[in-house]
Amino acid sequence: MTGKTQNFLPVSDTDLSGNERSYLLQAFDSGRISGSGPFVDRLESAFSDFCGTTYSLACANGTVALHLALLALGVGPGDEVIVPSLTYIATANAVSYCGATPVFADADPDTWNAGAEQIEPLITSRTKAVIVVHLFGNPVDMDAVLALARAHDVFVVEDAAEAHGATIGDRKVGSIGDIGTFSFYGNKIMTTGEGGLVTTDNEELANRMRLRCGQGMDPARRYWFPIIGYNYRLTNLQCAIGLAQLERIGDFIRARRRCAETYRAHLSEIDALTFQAQPDGHGVWWMFSVLMPDPEARDRTMRLLEENGIETRPLFWPVHILPPYQSLGASCPVAERIAPRGINLPSGGHIGEDEIRRIAGLIRKALA
Ligand SMILES: *Cc1c(COP(=O)(O)O)cnc(C)c1O
Repeated sequence: MTGKTQNFLPVSDTDLSGNERSYLLQAFDSGRISGSGPFVDRLESAFSDFCGTTYSLACANGTVALHLALLALGVGPGDEVIVPSLTYIATANAVSYCGATPVFADADPDTWNAGAEQIEPLITSRTKAVIVVHLFGNPVDMDAVLALARAHDVFVVEDAAEAHGATIGDRKVGSIGDIGTFSFYGNKIMTTGEGGLVTTDNEELANRMRLRCGQGMDPARRYWFPIIGYNYRLTNLQCAIGLAQLERIGDFIRARRRCAETYRAHLSEIDALTFQAQPDGHGVWWMFSVLMPDPEARDRTMRLLEENGIETRPLFWPVHILPPYQSLGASCPVAERIAPRGINLPSGGHIGEDEIRRIAGLIRKALA
């Protein structure tokens, strides 16, 4: 536990209390501290087992995971890639890195996700791929997205940066589309400090991503570079931390689900609040979130919580209104209505029922 003190409750906390320290020192003492080594291999293989995919490739962070995915699919200038507006900006930036154009899909008013209904009207002859984001760990209805994608011959990338372990039926998110991407940033479901990973069942896509992640070096011919690649590797040190985190991911997910249930129990009687609906799977509630009746009430509530030592986060700004993407002129009215009313509440193993009761009391007070 790092951030929790008597009078400050952080929105998320990093729990490194398992084998993280011992594996990290093992990697350190072995001298294998760069972007290859036994912990890289072990993390990749354990993540494939966890996610139910044939291939996993560790990489520097969740943003370059998206970049590798789009590169492997051949996304380039002239292509369009459909992305949600209500997401972290990295989803759209990865499209820009490829010289392609992000096309912003609006949010569903209940799940806050961009699913098949929002994506369908945006498909054109230039659409090369869609990136689905399981926002705050809430699974998107992938069957509907895959049916749409097949009908229009477009690829599907799942940005599962916030959704490690979320399921739809018996499938884990990140194993359903052509490629899944994950982030291991400090506040995600599991962490390596900075880090990321891509998953796929497709051998050719896996090989393309591995080639690009390792500067483009031909695996069969050392220092022969058939393409311009990138150095996007994750270090053996970071993978050592990641392997220890993955050993405990079941606990991390249970803690977040318990947190979400407890929030609901304490907040559901407040009529003015709206919650994120979860009809399409079993989410992991990376950040439990609420919508206030209006932006003014949102800001007032966040201030009152802050004054009482409780950190919160505003929901993401809709990406289509941010300066780099404004000129594309996208229209996402639902995302614009949701975002300024939303708060991410402290979520994770560091939050117990007492804290949630206190937070609920303060939210009531702010709305009174
Ligand atoms: C965190 C996040 C990313 C980017 O991950 P980094 O590891 O910070 O690069 C991408 N997409 C979403 C939805 C995220 O939440």
